[in-house]
Amino acid sequence: MSEPRRNFDKLLVEVRNIVTRTPALQAFAPVPDDLEFVTREPAREVFANSLQGKLPPAIAPLQALVTATEAVLESAQWRATYTKEELGQDFIDRYGYFELYGPEGHYISHQSRAFLGYWGAGLHYPSHCHLAEEIYCVAAGQALFGVDDADGQVIEAGHTRQHSSNQSHWMTTEDSAVLCLVLWRGPGLAGSATLE
Ligand code: ZN
Repeated sequence: MSEPRRNFDKLLVEVRNIVTRTPALQAFAPVPDDLEFVTREPAREVFANSLQGKLPPAIAPLQALVTATEAVLESAQWRATYTKEELGQDFIDRYGYFELYGPEGHYISHQSRAFLGYWGAGLHYPSHCHLAEEIYCVAAGQALFGVDDADGQVIEAGHTRQHSSNQSHWMTTEDSAVLCLVLWRGPGLAGSATLE
């Protein structure tokens, strides 16, 4: 077994630990039972390298997830969804996610989807939506989460925030970067988010 594969397997173990011991995540979407590892080319290596040693500090039960994420930084297929024309160069340079499992994940699944996403400090991810339902779990750091035009709410490590299908939502990081585990389920599973 290759080293990247072993590291993704370790990350999957940690994601499974978090999902099974966080009732909101387990109720939303248990870790799928149809996972099939596929080899994917790493992407956005410059961004991945910029995260070395820079992931926000985690609290004890989530440290293993952050450590396992650090181990796959260089082999993950990092994506950005958006362009610098849409969100600006600084946002694109300091934001990224990879799909651990799902229709286009490092493990293929057609049951649900899991992303690990990172946003540097002081970024505003403006209102966007998608057909799939979603739940965020902050793994390290914190961010302000909001829906529609309402005031945001600070979500800290270990806490979750759920968005319903096509619900408009936004996120802002202040002094801290944030690393999130994000799960999707339901119709639109293979789709992507669009800005409003
Ligand atoms: Zn979303």
